[in-house]
Amino acid sequence: MKVDIGSIRDVRGGSISFNGNQAVDTSGLELDVEINQPVAINGAVTNTGDGFLVQGEIIYTYRTNCDRCLEPVTGSVNTEITEQFVVFTPFSDADDSVHGLQGDEIDLTDCIREQVFLSLPMKFTCNEACRGLCPQCGQNLNMKDCNCRKEEFNPQFSKLKSLLNQEGGGTDGKS
Ligand SMILES: [Zn+2]
Ligand SMILES: [Zn+2]
Repeated sequence: MKVDIGSIRDVRGGSISFNGNQAVDTSGLELDVEINQPVAINGAVTNTGDGFLVQGEIIYTYRTNCDRCLEPVTGSVNTEITEQFVVFTPFSDADDSVHGLQGDEIDLTDCIREQVFLSLPMKFTCNEACRGLCPQCGQNLNMKDCNCRKEEFNPQFSKLKSLLNQEGGGTDGKS
């Protein structure tokens, strides 16, 4: 996405707002996630005197599968960008945090792509309480328990069970 700053180029303190959509190139994204295209962005560019400050918000949704149970998961992200653009001169310091202007245009394409990648969650779960798949039989444990699962619960479960049995015995004795 490009923003034309011609109207504030020579106006220190001047600001213009922008909003629009941009398709994000997701090749190179190592996660198995599909970003719904295009992403939405809105924000403002301010002429600070030293350059141009871009502050914006990116909003997008994505689709993937739950890390634990492999069921489809969708999510949405709101993230912010803050970027500096300057008119590069032969004397400008090479600084990665500052971008060059191209004529009267600020090109946000790379900044937006980078921020979308950075803002993706590290983990995807359908639900925080997702119980995932049984590592032995593959049963989705959110749907129903499987027989192998009982073995894992056994230590605590049998303790509880024996307590219940004792109480049960007491009641029997009274009656
Ligand atoms: Zn899940
Ligand atoms: Zn199982």
